[in-house]
Amino acid sequence: MRIPKQNRDLWRFVLRRDLKSLSLWAVWVLLWGGGALAYNANHTTYPPERQILGWRLALWILAGAVIGFFLFRLSRVFFQRTRSGVLISSGLSRDYAPSQDPGKGRLSYDYRLNKVLHLRRPNGKRLRVRIEEKPGSYVYYREGDRLVRLHGLPYPLNLDAREEQGTLCVACGCVHKTKVPLCVSCGLSLIDVELLREKDGE
Ligand SMILES: [Zn+2]
Repeated sequence: MRIPKQNRDLWRFVLRRDLKSLSLWAVWVLLWGGGALAYNANHTTYPPERQILGWRLALWILAGAVIGFFLFRLSRVFFQRTRSGVLISSGLSRDYAPSQDPGKGRLSYDYRLNKVLHLRRPNGKRLRVRIEEKPGSYVYYREGDRLVRLHGLPYPLNLDAREEQGTLCVACGCVHKTKVPLCVSCGLSLIDVELLREKDGE
C-alpha cells in the first residue's frame, strides 16, 4: 500500500520531511566533529595521545553520527515501512475530542503529545504508533478499526472510518467532519480511503 498517485503533494511532504531530518543530522555531525577539532585547537600543548586524533577522532565522529541517528529519527527515513493493523487500544481522551471544530480556534486547545496507538498486525505482532492527539482523534481512531500507517507519514489512516468519524489529514492529524478536498489546517490534500481499501491485504 502506498500514497495514492492523486496525492502528489503528500509524496513531496514525505520527501521534505526526510530531507529535513537528513540535513539536521548532517549539521549535527559536522558540529560534533567540529567540537573535537576545536578541542584539539585549544589544547595544542597536549601530547597527541591526549588529543582527539586518528582512530579516536573516527570513533568520536561515529558516536556522534549514531547519537544523531536517534536524535533526528533517521530510523523513520531508512527503516519505517507501511504497516497496517487493528487498533486494540489507544490513550486518546474522550472528553477532549467531540465538541471541537478543527477549523476554528485551533490554537486555543491544549496539545496532547505522544499518545500511543496500539495495533495488532495481521501477523499477530504488535505495533505502537505515537501521535499527537488532535480534536476529533478520539472519534476517528476507534478501537477495532483497521488502521494503516503509510511510509513516511505521521498519522495512520482508518480504513474502516465511517462518514461520521470524519476525514483525516495524514500530515497534521486534523480531523474534518465533512468531506473537503484540502486540509483546512495545513492545506495538503486528503487521502481518499476508498483507494486504499481496495489495496488492503497487499
Ligand atoms: Zn493537515
